[in-house]
Amino acid sequence: MPDTWITKMIHFDYKDDEDIPARVKKIAGYFGSIVTQSLKNPSGIESNTGIQCRRRPGRIPCTGVIRSTLFEDVLEIKWYCLVCGDEGRITEWEGTRWDKSLIFIKIIRMWSMPSGFLILKVLNLLMWIKKSRN
Ligand SMILES: [Zn+2]
Repeated sequence: MPDTWITKMIHFDYKDDEDIPARVKKIAGYFGSIVTQSLKNPSGIESNTGIQCRRRPGRIPCTGVIRSTLFEDVLEIKWYCLVCGDEGRITEWEGTRWDKSLIFIKIIRMWSMPSGFLILKVLNLLMWIKKSRN
């Protein structure tokens, strides 16, 4: 059975010189990459992350690719694998090593004003359009 992962990224973050078990680093990197990719996509629209599903049902690697939706208003990312149904929710990624959003987007995100939120949505959408043309 697929699992539902509830992940708070601050629990996975570490310092560069910190000694982290490879297993933990691997799973942190997996969820982290979902965060990094999802933050590039416009809020509220389900998008492809390009990240290969990590599950191996019956020791055979799942062929699925993770899809995700960023919910900017509640700062939550929902993700799932279309093939095996593995799914999860990620929160509290702000300021972690995987939060690679541009500085001006971070500033706008800090405004809790609806106008800031609207600007963010527009910028996000423009970046997404630009990216999909490349
Ligand atoms: Zn899968």
